[in-house]
Amino acid sequence: MRRVVTAGVTAASLLSIWTLLLAGAACASSSQEQPPPTPQALAEVWERERRPLPPPPLVTHQIVESEVARLVQDSTGLVRSEIAGRSVEGRAIHHLTIGRGPTPVLLWSQMHGDEPTATSALLDICQWLLTHQHEPVAARLLDSLTLHVVPMLNPDGAERFQRRNAQGIDINRDALHLQTPEGQVLKALRDRFAPVVGFNLHNQNWRTSVGTPPRPAVVSLLAVAYDEARSEDARRHLTKRVSSVIVGALEPFVAGQIGRYDDAFEERAFGDNITRWGTGVVLIETGAWPGPDPDRMLVKLNFVALITALDAIATGAVDRADPAVYERLPENDNLLLHTIVRGATVLAGTRVPPFRADVGIAGTRGVRQTPGGRRLQWQASIQEIGDLRVYGALETIDGAGLFVSAVYSPATVGQEVVVPDGGGAATGAAGRAASAGPTVTLGAPARLWLLRAGSLPGRYRIERVIEIR
Ligand SMILES: [Zn+2]
Repeated sequence: MRRVVTAGVTAASLLSIWTLLLAGAACASSSQEQPPPTPQALAEVWERERRPLPPPPLVTHQIVESEVARLVQDSTGLVRSEIAGRSVEGRAIHHLTIGRGPTPVLLWSQMHGDEPTATSALLDICQWLLTHQHEPVAARLLDSLTLHVVPMLNPDGAERFQRRNAQGIDINRDALHLQTPEGQVLKALRDRFAPVVGFNLHNQNWRTSVGTPPRPAVVSLLAVAYDEARSEDARRHLTKRVSSVIVGALEPFVAGQIGRYDDAFEERAFGDNITRWGTGVVLIETGAWPGPDPDRMLVKLNFVALITALDAIATGAVDRADPAVYERLPENDNLLLHTIVRGATVLAGTRVPPFRADVGIAGTRGVRQTPGGRRLQWQASIQEIGDLRVYGALETIDGAGLFVSAVYSPATVGQEVVVPDGGGAATGAAGRAASAGPTVTLGAPARLWLLRAGSLPGRYRIERVIEIR
């Protein structure tokens, strides 16, 4: 029953907020007349002005704390901060308040400790508001909205670069029991400010794909459902429109690579329950980006998406967005590998005779503690062997006419090497013994040679060393 009442109040408050915004626009203030910033212009601003932080997986709680302190100090009152609560291990969960407008918006990131992209984007957005506060777009945002920003909800998980908190609980399945202090903080902020919209900011698995042929789902969006029937009301209309605005902001960069996240209702999740409690939630899941510096593009896209969405809420332009733009997005799929070697002859190293197959490598990026500090590290292995035509990859290597084997020695490109090429029956103890060395088998390390036939049988010249680490 309480749900129905809450929903009614929210719908009414949404209407009144837009009436208010429209009234503001009727006064023809110059900042409201300024057209929205173009995605390209925002991307350029980000390139010029982003905070000089390490890649998001290496941004620690300590860095977030010093960024928060700096923002508060530099802003002379524009950015306020409080410690909204503490993690299981006592780390401060910071809540920043920016803006003086009538419409509260809540943004939280890194509820999952190993999903850090949006934390950096939120810090960049705070800095952007601070730097440009006297210019029309930032000014109208600050006049219309009050942003409540939690840049790292799960600092214990972030410290370990793991999904769950220090209790081993997935905070995003704790919305009903509220056994995690981090979840309690989020619930308390929601109840205290009754935001009109919440942005729930995550990273999705790098195997997430979209479209045919599969490409990286660079960003996936969800206008979160609040019941099993996936009903529509003012909250969900709004979050669908916000999602459509985000699609428009990202398409210049990643057309065809924006996915729609599964909208099944998850009764334990925060997004679903926060929507039930009265605040429509937009879930943004950042996915994979190919190339040596994926974080740069991924943070930039978050920055562009969020500022564009906030501006559309601030001006009321979100009201004119077409929800069908979001609804038409292709659904997420799970068909992306990191690397595929297509069509090579596999020298498996298991006494299996050579055979033609595609070899697919998948993995995740992790963080390793070393004596020199935290370092990014891939955990990648061979995950698929066979006809992989239905899969996509961040990198596809044409293996036609070539051979692929495990790496047997520190040899380099151009060298000729001896590679066991099977030929015998892979049975019995001999087969098992042969498997003790490096192999091209499921689960084997992502270290491969791409080879060309050499001067003698059993000898091969190294064309390329494939190693993901
Ligand atoms: Zn997540």
